[in-house]
Amino acid sequence: MWVAMAAVVAWLGGYAVLCALRPFGPCRRCRGTGEIERFRKTRTCPRCRGKKLRLRLGRRAHNSWRRTHAAGSR
Ligand SMILES: [Zn+2]
Repeated sequence: MWVAMAAVVAWLGGYAVLCALRPFGPCRRCRGTGEIERFRKTRTCPRCRGKKLRLRLGRRAHNSWRRTHAAGSR
């Protein structure tokens, strides 16, 4: 049980460092290509709009929390 908890804590810490160092990760929808195939036609990926990169979930959560905190405190 303790080993599993230590693994989760280590994973969270590593993910936090990853979010701090590299806030952008490759788009999962198009796998970093910027284009997806739909109806046998190549289209710009709607999720990243061809930018190939997406803000990581942890970083998005951090940004929204910071925005909320900044708006609520003076
Ligand atoms: Zn994409």
